[in-house]
Amino acid sequence: MASSSVSSSPAHVAIVGAGVIGMLSALQLHGRGWRVSVFDQASAGRESSWAGGGILSPILPWNYPAPVWQLSRRSLPLYKALAPELAAATGVDPELLASGAMLLDPAQIAAGQAWCAAEGLPAMEIDAILRTRGPALPGLLLPWIGQIRNPRLGQALRLRLGQLGIELHENTPVAGWLRDGERVSGVRTVAGDEHRADAVVLAAGAWSGALGALPVAPVRGQMLLLQAVPSRLKRIVFSQGRYLIPRRDGRILVGSTVEHAGFDKSITGDARDELVAFAAGLLGDEVKGQVEAHWSGLRPGTADGIPYIGAHPALPGLWVNAGHYRNGLVMAPASTELLADLIEDKATQVDAAAYKPGRASRG
Ligand SMILES: Cc1cc2nc3c(=O)[nH]c(=O)nc-3n(C[C@H](O)[C@H](O)[C@H](O)COP(=O)(O)OP(=O)(O)OC[C@H]3O[C@@H](n4cnc5c(N)ncnc54)[C@H](O)[C@@H]3O)c2cc1C
Repeated sequence: MASSSVSSSPAHVAIVGAGVIGMLSALQLHGRGWRVSVFDQASAGRESSWAGGGILSPILPWNYPAPVWQLSRRSLPLYKALAPELAAATGVDPELLASGAMLLDPAQIAAGQAWCAAEGLPAMEIDAILRTRGPALPGLLLPWIGQIRNPRLGQALRLRLGQLGIELHENTPVAGWLRDGERVSGVRTVAGDEHRADAVVLAAGAWSGALGALPVAPVRGQMLLLQAVPSRLKRIVFSQGRYLIPRRDGRILVGSTVEHAGFDKSITGDARDELVAFAAGLLGDEVKGQVEAHWSGLRPGTADGIPYIGAHPALPGLWVNAGHYRNGLVMAPASTELLADLIEDKATQVDAAAYKPGRASRG
């Protein structure tokens, strides 16, 4: 049985889950002097954090509870520092792109304008032309919405952890907690290994519900990737609850479904047809022959879309950073900063009360 001592200095944190939340928590805590060990049941950065779209804003943020926006807004400047740092250190550019977004839902334009004005963010009414000979569509340009290429972000984070000497145990599912009386004092793997730690962070995405006895459940999302067609679309498009995300290389992501199918990550013909029809309606019928990939991922769903960040309500020593639902990529830098501040009992940049694990859900 492997084990490490709790009395060693610096303090040791064990993090369960190597998605964007687990890996950024690892970077945060390593940067504050902690010894960090990360455990993932499979490969780092290959679940929801890989499958997502990487839009750096909630879709129609005015429809989300304020705490989701609070962490999203705080994350934007943090990404501006993080992305070039990761690119320089690892050679993998996460492609933080200030692409802007166009909202093409006429019914949402007034609400979007009012909300942007209240937040001090720019929003301009536009006539969007997405294809040659296509109609001009009334919309709202939100130039402050950007994107990150999340599979590359995951790759860069994984490399960075290695460069910094952070222990990453892949293919090492955690089964539960070591206890000293009431207190969680480490993790026990499915293989039976025991790893002691001064603090344990649960960041296992959609799997956090069962491990932490928390109301977090998987919500499947399916996405398509369209082949690169040069200069067709430059900005993210939101319309009818779906979106298009043009990557820097000209490829376009089409997303996404919202399905309650447990931990089943199958992809379906119905979802593909629906997403193709959505993309074709905006970009033209030629996209029907341009589907390059189709995948799904499991969002860590909570009833109100607000993540659980803070001390576990029943297990002292266990800290939670899970349940980011549709906005884990955008919220990751600020939510991992928040958890690190809470673990270290420091003043926080945002009011932590709204994210408290064990709170009554507003969903
Ligand atoms: C289709 C789709 C589109 C999305 N689009 C966006 C978007 O545009 N913008 C945005 O901000 N967010 C988006 N999201 C949401 C975002 O991807 C998630 O909120 C975020 O990735 C959650 O990160 P995480 O680290 O908590 O979870 P994950 O990335 O799922 O990581 C959890 C990790 O925990 C590991 N794990 C689980 N159980 C155990 C165990 N017992 N032991 C050890 N390890 C374990 C898993 O293997 C996994 O690697 C999207 C999601 C999907 C599916």
